[in-house]
Amino acid sequence: MSETVIKIEDLSLAYETEKTRFEALKNINLEIKKGEFVCLIGPSGCGKSTLLGVLEGLLEPTSGKVYIEDREVHGPGSERAVVFQNYSLFPWMTAKKNVSFALRESKRGIQKISKKDANKIAEEYLEKVGLAGYENKQPGELSGGMQQRVAIARALACNPEILLMDEPFGAIDAKTREVLQQLLLKLWAEDENKKTIVFVTHDLEEAIFLADRIVFMVPKGIHSVIDVNLERPRDKEKLMLSDKYRTLRSRLVKLFNNEEDNSEFIGGAGI
Ligand code: ADP
Ligand code: MG
Repeated sequence: MSETVIKIEDLSLAYETEKTRFEALKNINLEIKKGEFVCLIGPSGCGKSTLLGVLEGLLEPTSGKVYIEDREVHGPGSERAVVFQNYSLFPWMTAKKNVSFALRESKRGIQKISKKDANKIAEEYLEKVGLAGYENKQPGELSGGMQQRVAIARALACNPEILLMDEPFGAIDAKTREVLQQLLLKLWAEDENKKTIVFVTHDLEEAIFLADRIVFMVPKGIHSVIDVNLERPRDKEKLMLSDKYRTLRSRLVKLFNNEEDNSEFIGGAGI
């Protein structure tokens, strides 16, 4: 039995100011297992980024609790790393420095790491994401896809248990996006200590290609949790021709279009 690494219990979150209150999430329950690849999908504004913000520890729940490995989340932690759509690299630092700096920051106070070791690990991870030879380039000298490779290298170099990704390939052209999806799956699969990934996207095909489970969100909550029983490693071209894929895709399209759902695909809605 694999262990639960993320547990969300009756989570509600309201954005509040002195005059306004907007409930973005209401009574969410979800458990994610170690090494699982979970995609959150749903229409714009349904609360995906908010949920990720709570998992990251930047947003405090209004009520309910979030546990990571049985510890209640109150703030960010080094067992979690994030990758966002906007590259969020420091523009004045080289690719290598962006990675090594994050690595040293994440280890601060735990097991300090020397600059030399951090540089070595940074080089190793930049190579893993296909950026050997680009270590000394600054973000402005790299394409969008390459900048996201740096962001992935930076997140993985810190060796987190959990990777939180908010539409990381959302601003990338279709072809590069496929390459990056393949790269991410490869790095995730080959890791001995498989990371748990929570990946936000509003691209159905991306979700099916990547995920073990798809959490379909509607405003304020989870509508359903769908198991993606497709073999790995996945080959996108072959996958897209398979009946299983097409059936799953059409179910998801129907969900998006608010049509009747067929419960055989729903695994533990709102667990
Ligand atoms: P998604 O990522 O699914 O597009 P978000 O989590 O960003 O959705 O937003 C969920 C809802 O919360 C939206 O209606 C959005 O307008 C609202 N919201 C997000 N951030 C804030 C904020 N800081 N203050 C008030 N409302 C917010
Ligand atoms: Mg969002």
